[in-house]
Amino acid sequence: MKKLFAVLGNPIGHSMSPVMHNDLFSLYNMNAVYLPFQVKEEELKEAVNGLRALGAVGFNVTVPHKSTIMPFLDEIDELAASIGAVNTVVNQNGKLIGYNTDGLGFLKGLDEYVTKIEDHKILVIGAGGAARAIYFTLAKENPVQIDIANRTVEKAVELITECPYSITSRALTLEEAGNYLGEYDLIIQTTMIGMEPNTEEQPISLENINKQALVCDIIYNPLETSILRDAKERGAAVQNGINMFVYQGALAFEIWTGRLPDIQRMKENVLRQLGGK
Ligand code: NAP
Repeated sequence: MKKLFAVLGNPIGHSMSPVMHNDLFSLYNMNAVYLPFQVKEEELKEAVNGLRALGAVGFNVTVPHKSTIMPFLDEIDELAASIGAVNTVVNQNGKLIGYNTDGLGFLKGLDEYVTKIEDHKILVIGAGGAARAIYFTLAKENPVQIDIANRTVEKAVELITECPYSITSRALTLEEAGNYLGEYDLIIQTTMIGMEPNTEEQPISLENINKQALVCDIIYNPLETSILRDAKERGAAVQNGINMFVYQGALAFEIWTGRLPDIQRMKENVLRQLGGK
C-alpha cells in the first residue's frame, strides 16, 4: 500500500514541499505520495485526526496552523514546545509527535558558510514566527550574542524574555540595528520585506556593515532580495532562503524515514521550480 505524507496549510497552492518530497520518494524507490491539503482553521482538528485515521506516516504543517495544531498532537518535542510551533509531525503507531525543523533547518543551512557559530555576534531582523524558531535554535548553540531588531520592539522584548536558553541579547529598533551594524558577523533577515510587491525595499540600511559579515535572508522568492543585493555590492557574503527551506524539509524527511536525503538534488529541484539555475 502507498504510504501517505501531507502538508496542511491555508493557502497551500504555492507550497513547493510536494514536488520536493515526491521527487525524493521516486529517487529512493519508495511507494509513497506527499499531498497538499488546504485546511481551514476550524477544521484543523478533523484534518489531523483524519490523517491519523488514514495512517499517514508523517506530515508538514505550514502557515497559519503551526501553533494552533499543537493541542491536537499527542507529544511535542522539547525545542518545538519552547518555540511554540510545529512544522513536522510523525505518526508513531497512532501517536502524533510534533517537531520544529525550521530553526534547525536554518542552522544546518549555515554549515556551508559558518564553522563556529559560538564565536559569532548575531543580529536577527524581525520577531515573527520564523525569527522565533531561528532565535531559540541559535541561542541553544551558545553564540557570543544575538540581538533582535523589529519594527515593533515589544515583540523583540517578548522573544528575549521567553527564550528558554541563556543568551546575551538586546531588543533594538530597526534604526538602532542599522547604527550598530558593524558589530555583527552574522545578520539574518526574517521579515517579509523584499518579497513581492515590495522587492525594492529592505528593513535596515547596510551603510555600517562589516564587510566580513554574512547576510542571510530567509526569503527565497525572489532568490536575491534587495538587502542581499546591497550586501553583496558592499562586499559581504550572502545566503538566500533556499538552504533553510531545503534543510527544514530534509530534516522532516529524516524524522519520517530515518534517512537524510540528497540535499543537492533537493536544492536543484527547488531552484528549478523557482525558475533559477
Ligand atoms: P510573521 O510571523 O508574520 O512575522 C513577520 C515579521 O515581519 C514581523 O517581525 C513583522 O514585524 C515584520 N514585518 C512585516 N511587515 C513589515 C514592514 N512593513 N516593516 C517592518 N517589518 C515588517 O511571518 P513569519 O512566519 O516569521 O515569516 C516571515 C518570512 O519568512 C516570510 O517571508 C516567509 O516566507 C519566510 N520564511 C521562510 C522560510 C524558509 O524556509 N526559507 C521558513 C519560514 C518563513 P512586526 O512584529 O512589527 O509586525
